[in-house]
Amino acid sequence: MDFTLSEDQQAFAETAKQFAQQVLYPHAARWDREHHFPVAEIRQAGELGFCGLYTPETEGGLGLSRLDAAIIFEQLAMGCTTTTAMLTIHNMATWMIATWGSTTAKAMWCPHLVTGEKLASYCLTEPGAGSDAASLKTTATATADGFILNGAKVFISGAGSTDVLVVMARTGGEGAAGVSAFAVPADCEGVIYGKAEEKMGWNAQPTRMITFEDVKVERAWLLGEPGDGFKMAMQGLDGGRINIATCSIGTAQQALNTARNYMQEREQFGKPLAAFQALQFKLADMATELVAARHLVRLAAFKLDNKDTDRTTYCAMAKRFATDVGFSVCNEALQLHGGYGYIKEYPLERHMRDVRVHQILEGTNEIMRLIIGRRLLADEREIL
Ligand SMILES: Cc1cc2nc3c(=O)[nH]c(=O)nc-3n(C[C@H](O)[C@H](O)[C@H](O)COP(=O)(O)OP(=O)(O)OC[C@H]3O[C@@H](n4cnc5c(N)ncnc54)[C@H](O)[C@@H]3O)c2cc1C
Repeated sequence: MDFTLSEDQQAFAETAKQFAQQVLYPHAARWDREHHFPVAEIRQAGELGFCGLYTPETEGGLGLSRLDAAIIFEQLAMGCTTTTAMLTIHNMATWMIATWGSTTAKAMWCPHLVTGEKLASYCLTEPGAGSDAASLKTTATATADGFILNGAKVFISGAGSTDVLVVMARTGGEGAAGVSAFAVPADCEGVIYGKAEEKMGWNAQPTRMITFEDVKVERAWLLGEPGDGFKMAMQGLDGGRINIATCSIGTAQQALNTARNYMQEREQFGKPLAAFQALQFKLADMATELVAARHLVRLAAFKLDNKDTDRTTYCAMAKRFATDVGFSVCNEALQLHGGYGYIKEYPLERHMRDVRVHQILEGTNEIMRLIIGRRLLADEREIL
């Protein structure tokens, strides 16, 4: 077992680090303050291949593994959590179109999505269907040449500023088997956007409700077969959970680095904070938990890359653990800054606000425990 990053992985990580330091970090606080969605910088990320990291090369992506992508996203998140999180959602939706799209849908979207020239949203959650996503009510009613879409989605990341919507809608009966997925142009007639939600964090990207009123959907926009939509949505989320977990790890690493530097500069009682053993122990625990979380995320990515039968369980474990650790490390880093941690001039309160939502979205951490618990109780095989 070799945990060393390959030369390629180190090179990708270095490129991502430079991009994060030069293009993202210097502006992240302003984007948060001004609620600015940095589309131009996302396009720049696209020029480096970061908009189609694990999209197959046949569709113009880099065709990297999920492990490679996790290493890259972690570096990017050190620069701006929110922009990186949007990049991860875009990567997930792009991969879904590239994997299950018709020839028409792939030709229509993939060349533009992998460059970041066009952006994608993932539309699963509804006002009445959050954790219980399989109970979704949006309908896609079959017509002679396609479908008619009606319903509403909530909390859609990027909505109003993206170009294509991967929409899960009901074409059949109740439950998961009645759900299909579609790649719907975001400017179709009948697609109506709500106001930008006012959020605690993730302010550098819009989150909106979307209503579909008799939207005409072409047959060629269907992803895969009718009834496969829920499975696709969940497969997309296995990778999505690794990605969101890496956004927490990268942000927490940034917060930890900031706290370590501050402890060496700030003096109280005639000594730097770093001289107090209680604080050294706090820093040690933060670093230990962060390393454990990083390696659980990389293990889950490895399992997903290798199509391990327990990949979904590992992705759930990694998402639960890394997003909890990420939040706790950011919170402790804020505490180490004392009052300055609470002030917007320092980045700690933003880090904490931004990672908080990672414990909620792409399946809440309670739902992650549900997935893990179900697997443990349904199958006697040990999880190794
Ligand atoms: C900023 C933001 C961006 C988002 N982006 C997207 C997006 O791009 N696309 C998208 O489709 N969705 C998106 N979401 C939606 C997100 O995935 C949902 O909010 C999440 O899945 C939870 O659903 P809910 O909010 O309806 O909560 P609910 O499902 O109502 O849950 C409420 C609480 O009950 C708990 N709970 C529910 N069921 C159980 C159970 N069986 N056992 C134990 N506890 C349970 C939950 O864990 C939670 O704590 C986003 C959300 C936010 C806040």
